[in-house]
Amino acid sequence: MNRPGKIVCVGRNYVDHAVELGNIVPEKPLLFLKPPSSVVGEGENVVLPRDSNQVEHEGEIGVIIGDTLRHVSEENALAGVKGIVCVNDVTARDLQKADVQFTRGKGFDTFCPIGSDVVALSDLPPLDELEVFCRVNGEQRQHGRAADMAFPIPRILAFISRVMTLEPGDLVATGTPAGVGPLLAGDVVEVEIPGVGTLRNPVVDDIHQ
Ligand code: ZN
Repeated sequence: MNRPGKIVCVGRNYVDHAVELGNIVPEKPLLFLKPPSSVVGEGENVVLPRDSNQVEHEGEIGVIIGDTLRHVSEENALAGVKGIVCVNDVTARDLQKADVQFTRGKGFDTFCPIGSDVVALSDLPPLDELEVFCRVNGEQRQHGRAADMAFPIPRILAFISRVMTLEPGDLVATGTPAGVGPLLAGDVVEVEIPGVGTLRNPVVDDIHQ
């Protein structure tokens, strides 16, 4: 898996997920970063850190950037997209809630599984028809539609590119729908975007002291 130069995530982009965590959807996209060192690929382990007792899955539609985007308009944003990819924004929910910043809760090694397949928009149905599923041990936990995002993908890309230049290979994780829940050692977690593929990762305990 090629590591993105940066991973920009959007929080609370689906109303149903914001509500389940007791939050409201913000007036503007809520951005945070995951470190490139958190990336793992298809089939690699998600490691549960000893510092957390509540690690959760977040199945998401990922956008891989194709062109350099700076102050891009919503109208032109999609032309700079390389393709869509499955992402799991693994989160230590207890640490996310304990800290003001999301860095620790979102930043552990192995907390960003990314699928192997990047599928061009031209090979997919219209963006609004994209769906994402998350399953644990074959049981469905999450199902979302891009049409239900509070901030659609072109608006997210335009918004981010007013803050930081999006560069080829960067990943934008577009938020997770309702149904987030625990990951336990021995689980297998899957994120599927029909038309893109399925990202599958085993979950294991940390062996470090
Ligand atoms: Zn997320």
